[in-house]
Amino acid sequence: MELRKDPITRSWVIIGDDVVEPAPRAQVCAFCGPASESAHVIATLPGQDGGPWSARSVVHPHALYHIEGETGRRGEGLYDRMRAVGAHEVLVENPRHDGQLWTATEAEVESFVRLAALRIQDLKRDSRLKYVSIFKNQGERAGQEFDHPTSQLTATTFVPRRVLYELRAGRDYFESKERCVFCDIIAQEERQNVRMLEMRGDYIAFLPYAPRVPYETWILPRTHEASFERTGLSRVGNLTDLAALLRRTLQRILTLTESFHLVLHTSPNSLHPSEALGYWKTLDEDYHWHIEILPILEAKARSYTFKETYYSPVTSETAVKRLREVKI
Ligand SMILES: [Zn+2]
Ligand SMILES: [Zn+2]
Ligand SMILES: [Zn+2]
Repeated sequence: MELRKDPITRSWVIIGDDVVEPAPRAQVCAFCGPASESAHVIATLPGQDGGPWSARSVVHPHALYHIEGETGRRGEGLYDRMRAVGAHEVLVENPRHDGQLWTATEAEVESFVRLAALRIQDLKRDSRLKYVSIFKNQGERAGQEFDHPTSQLTATTFVPRRVLYELRAGRDYFESKERCVFCDIIAQEERQNVRMLEMRGDYIAFLPYAPRVPYETWILPRTHEASFERTGLSRVGNLTDLAALLRRTLQRILTLTESFHLVLHTSPNSLHPSEALGYWKTLDEDYHWHIEILPILEAKARSYTFKETYYSPVTSETAVKRLREVKI
């Protein structure tokens, strides 16, 4: 596998001829029971109620990125390429095969949230890695890979495109207003109260004004914080509210569809010694971590037009009413 940069959009693409066809679902689970003993475990959080562990991270069985070596970034005429250096891990959310984020206890969800924060913090110590993404593909139509409740992590030597858009927009907004755009959005959403889903302690869930898909939902801390891992590791008592809000929001969304993508957006690695440090000099003030949940409602593939211009047949104001009415 190698990384190639599109010289026009400046997006990195992971490409290779040796892609393994997705194997048929394994009969035995690789993440619980005897088969899980051979997993390459990277980090483990202690168990609750006598269990050996509560959440843990293992190397992805078909990792796209590998931690060894240098990126070997080089040009080829006007093109840029580099080796797929990085990390690809499976975050096992719960030791129980049926311990989903929406059925688990709040303490269990909190444990998973803390594991995610620990992994990001640890990988950011590696100055080669510029970004750590955490995401969950749930359901057939979201490309779910494993039956066991899991999320995935990739640590990359570049910042993924969508996050880069957000970082640039956050920095530009801050440059002209000296305020965080996310904090301003939160303040306006609270004031208008037409797309608000739920508030819990310091956390808020609402539907964005211009969603990419129907019922898209965001969860953010109301107090400004650029780095998720700083929240996850320092304000430990506060995580209960986040765990509860995440769990409740997923319960609501699952009444509409069994498939969704969930992604965590946090600040990039500012330890990176390159020009990136200067580039993101107001990062702590202009970026604000958040979770995006993108439900998948359509049964059929999207038309090309809607891949270039997002289309939602339901307004956020209508969608939020339906989500709020769900009995949970
Ligand atoms: Zn399992
Ligand atoms: Zn903010
Ligand atoms: Zn985002």
